[in-house]
Amino acid sequence: MNAKPSTAHAGAARSLDEWTFGPAPRRGTRQVRVGGVAIGGDAPVVVQSMTNTDTADVAGTVKQVAELWRAGSELVRVTVNNPESAAAVPRIVEKLAMMGIDVPIVGDFHYNGHQLLAGEPACAEALAKYRINPGNVGFGRKKDLQFGQLIELAMKHGKAVRIGVNWGSLDQSLAAALMDENAARAEPWDAGRVLREALIRSAIDSAERAVELGLGRDRIVLSAKVSGVQELIAVYRDLAARSDFALHLGLTEAGIGSKGIVASSAALAVLMQEGIGDTIRISLTPEPGAPRTQEVVVAQELLQTMGLRAFTPLVTACPGCGRTTSEFFQELAQVVQEHVRAKMPEWKITHPGAEHMTLAVMGCVVNGPGESRHADIGISLPGTGEAPAAPVFIDGEKSVTLRGDNIAREFIGLVDAYVDRRYGRAAPPG
Ligand code: SF4
Repeated sequence: MNAKPSTAHAGAARSLDEWTFGPAPRRGTRQVRVGGVAIGGDAPVVVQSMTNTDTADVAGTVKQVAELWRAGSELVRVTVNNPESAAAVPRIVEKLAMMGIDVPIVGDFHYNGHQLLAGEPACAEALAKYRINPGNVGFGRKKDLQFGQLIELAMKHGKAVRIGVNWGSLDQSLAAALMDENAARAEPWDAGRVLREALIRSAIDSAERAVELGLGRDRIVLSAKVSGVQELIAVYRDLAARSDFALHLGLTEAGIGSKGIVASSAALAVLMQEGIGDTIRISLTPEPGAPRTQEVVVAQELLQTMGLRAFTPLVTACPGCGRTTSEFFQELAQVVQEHVRAKMPEWKITHPGAEHMTLAVMGCVVNGPGESRHADIGISLPGTGEAPAAPVFIDGEKSVTLRGDNIAREFIGLVDAYVDRRYGRAAPPG
């Protein structure tokens, strides 16, 4: 079920009634165009990702960008750290275009971005957005000069920038100045609050400086990433209250496996529930052998389970318990989820709306029929001691009972037939 927004404003006090259901309306931000993708304003929250290939390896980077795009990434960021990677960017963009992949590519710059973009105009042109970290643009007096050069290059090429501050590379001179300012307070803040303030000030002051240099406010996205859940929530609440720039959310260095997924989801869910966030990235450390695309799947599932967007049909499945004697229902849940995910790129074109379909795979009669009835199409498998029969429910009604060795294949056939009937182009809207 999609969440119904309440009428409360993000950040404003709400009555108990207003808290009952759904996210707060999105905070009003200026919309930023990045290639063909809109971030902020009334645009849906955008999913983005980042490659981990050597960008100078054109074939390897094209392959990974294509995989991320096919998984649903709407922007892909690549590292641009040396002249070889800067020279590779236009070739990467060209090869992607030849494959019919029109995904905006964002360049991630640290220390030498001003030189790389000036020295490789084709790279500056091919990128859709530049990510600039104010803590890493240069040292001492060169910092302001090089930041200005980056902004001028963005203006010259008509590009958007993300001013992306990071806990691990905070502008040390700003942090030191705020520590001094804090020491002079009658009631000094704790060190954590001073550091959070330094992050926020670095992001906002840098953005205002870019505006002073002539970059439009509608060309700037802000981020201020930290690796702690509560710190991230506090920083973004403050950032959202103090500016109307579009915001990129992400927990930096989220970690590996379930820890990374849980920590990112916990932080981002709280913020998005409050209407904060225009684009997200889940910074997962891939487990050995795991695909890079996992971060895209997690981002999509986070948005979809919160009712903010729909990407692919989601399968409700029970966890199983002592009433289940085999792993069959777990396998069936996995097979069904993988099937609908694999079919979705095709269904997006041939069966628009299929991404909203809900499915249920349940392990026994206790909750099986009830949960299956709530789904568009659901199956209730037999638990211990139950007759070896699996009733299928379609649109809340029992439709057929499957038996025997081919239950998985037959259920997937029923799912495909349901999609055809309900979402096929010739079908009436359902
Ligand atoms: S539906 Fe049945 S098998 Fe699944 S968790 Fe509930 S009681 Fe256990």
